[in-house]
Amino acid sequence: MDIDAKEFRNSDITVTYDPCKCILSGICARELSDVFSNSIIPWVNLDNTETKRVIKQINRCPSGALKYHKNNEKKQAS
Ligand code: SF4
Repeated sequence: MDIDAKEFRNSDITVTYDPCKCILSGICARELSDVFSNSIIPWVNLDNTETKRVIKQINRCPSGALKYHKNNEKKQAS
């Protein structure tokens, strides 16, 4: 994982965000604004919706900047 990646956790998953990979498509904030904000810090709030919706949205990130792993599984290689 890159050194400046950010991590966000809820009880189910850990989400990582790598700003070096983000192409600022805005898809995450546009499609799931309860979780991904472009105006509030911290900009990822995993408590605002169900984990399965967060995972579905992360899988739509076109750059790979957003990734997740389940807290009870070994972390994915990046
Ligand atoms: S969907 Fe991915 S590439 Fe687009 S703004 Fe969000 S993190 Fe960046």
